[in-house]
Amino acid sequence: FFLTIEGGEGAGKTTILQGIADWLKTRGWDVVATREPGGIPIAEKIREVILDRGHTDMEARTEALLYAAARRQHLVQKVEPALAAGAAVLCDRFVDSSLAYQGHARGLGMEEVWSINRFAIGDLMPDLTLYLDVRPEVGLTRIRSAGGREINRLDLEDLSFHQKVREGYLLLAQRHPERIVTINAEQPPQQVLAQALEETEKRLKG
Ligand code: C5P
Ligand code: MG
Repeated sequence: FFLTIEGGEGAGKTTILQGIADWLKTRGWDVVATREPGGIPIAEKIREVILDRGHTDMEARTEALLYAAARRQHLVQKVEPALAAGAAVLCDRFVDSSLAYQGHARGLGMEEVWSINRFAIGDLMPDLTLYLDVRPEVGLTRIRSAGGREINRLDLEDLSFHQKVREGYLLLAQRHPERIVTINAEQPPQQVLAQALEETEKRLKG
């Protein structure tokens, strides 16, 4: 079972992923919780290169290719073996992030970005993708408030960039309703998690 969580900044992906992981474990699943870009040493290094605040001159296609490279290595080294062993793999971000951020928001085009990602992932797609939808004003306030995570290069983009990211995700959710479920992530975390668990359970039964 392969589940991915998507969303813009401050949507609460990491928290919800942990909640789903705990719930699946109580139901007897072996769970591998991981993230992109990263999850294994080579991909974590690529992540550092991408997110380095000093790399203001990184070109958009370079960025897209680095995400795809990190994805490939993570998939081969961690995701595929875990799925083959029967585990539930929960991944914080996957290919939809590239389509929304680099494809739509950066303007490379979703088709173009999809084509390099097809090369990277072959035909492995998630069984379920939970898109945590939050208005960027709300999400950015969350991460910039005390206790939020460290600010990276992408956080320095302006509001209109993050609005385009959201628009990209909403387009994807519209195009792939059989795979992507949108959850209103402006609700309190308990409610977001309850809905996430409900959707996960439905998918496991179906
Ligand atoms: O999910 P997380 O917040 O850890 O992602 C790290 C950063 O990478 C975020 O600031 C996000 O905007 C950025 N990102 C991106 N394009 C992707 C995936 C992530 O710009 N395809
Ligand atoms: Mg996170």
